[in-house]
Amino acid sequence: MEELRQWFEILSAVGTDPAGGFYRGSYTPQEQELCRLIGGWMKEAGLSVRRDAAGNLWGRAEGSGQGKEELPVVTGSHMDSVRGGGNYDGIYGVLGGLAAVKELLAEHGAPRRPVEVVSFTGEEGSRFSIGLMGSHAATGTLKKEDLYEKTDPAGISVAEGMREVGLDPERLEEAAHGPVGAYLEMHIEQGPVLEQKKIPIGIVDSIVGTQQFRVTMYGEAGHAGTVPMNARRDPMVYAARAIARFPAVAANSGDGVITVGRIWARPDAENVIPGEVSFTVDLRHPCEEIKQEMIRTVRAICEEEAAPGGRPVGWTAFPDNPATAMDPELKKRLSDACGALGLPCLAMPSGAGHDAMNMAFLGPVGMLFIPCRGGRSHCPQEYASFEDMRRGVDVLKETLYHLAWEP
Ligand SMILES: [Zn+2]
Repeated sequence: MEELRQWFEILSAVGTDPAGGFYRGSYTPQEQELCRLIGGWMKEAGLSVRRDAAGNLWGRAEGSGQGKEELPVVTGSHMDSVRGGGNYDGIYGVLGGLAAVKELLAEHGAPRRPVEVVSFTGEEGSRFSIGLMGSHAATGTLKKEDLYEKTDPAGISVAEGMREVGLDPERLEEAAHGPVGAYLEMHIEQGPVLEQKKIPIGIVDSIVGTQQFRVTMYGEAGHAGTVPMNARRDPMVYAARAIARFPAVAANSGDGVITVGRIWARPDAENVIPGEVSFTVDLRHPCEEIKQEMIRTVRAICEEEAAPGGRPVGWTAFPDNPATAMDPELKKRLSDACGALGLPCLAMPSGAGHDAMNMAFLGPVGMLFIPCRGGRSHCPQEYASFEDMRRGVDVLKETLYHLAWEP
């Protein structure tokens, strides 16, 4: 049986979630087991293996030709999953990248320039609510105070979690990786487009910029039975009117999406008109300028729908992820590789965030997508066929060959 298929079968027993699917949070025994297995496979491939100070796993082949002093070509993705997630999101880019590098080493010997395979920890933020945590550490943008302040639902801080697996939070800076010559990440699409169009490879143009807010609308709390409808200042109604207008904002933006995922009322009771209502807004667009325009429109809508003359709308913005454009040269190399292999490909945006957003600070980045069944991910039903995974590996392998092996 082909090795990649075997690796997936072995991992299908690691970090299974009793509630269904998988859970592989940072610094958990499940992640330790992943590191032991993947680290072993990296060694078998002929890579030297290290775990950095943040817990990311790296395998490296030194360059043997004139390029040995050149910056490394890096491929990989993340090893963690959300709670109740699948066996492909993230881990496909790690194992697929490793399969491509292992085959290239076996077929062509040492590369001309250094090649690295990375398995990032904590991309999903499913344990400590820090998204892209491992790659933030690799780019030196993870704050040390966050290691002590952020905790998991059981109250264990990132720093305590790190110590449990033998990492020293005080040495976080050592996880910073130098510049890279290129970073290539393979991932399941997490959407239905490739499957519907029957195209085996997606070449990412840009990763959407994401902005999240918490919006609070105010009114006047009161008794659900005694306050006449025409005398109410009900922020639940204001919020509902505002939220109902968001789909049109997304539709007008082209590729934008807007989601209201959480809502809170205060007081929080069946028979009380709330005095204030807060909700989250998650807003994404692959073009940064249009994203900013969407933010202004959403804010104007909330202000229009709030009580006239009432308390101004509360507006808290969470840290923003700007849209990340993929490197034109790497996009061309990926599509040339598809051409050489006779595989149709589609240029497309990524609606989800990825470690490539951080790696873009260290050098040029490129991403390719493969179809996943029904476009589903972050759930136990997440599935990519071995045939589709293999096609992605072939495209990556061809591209890595040109970047790092070809004389
Ligand atoms: Zn992912």
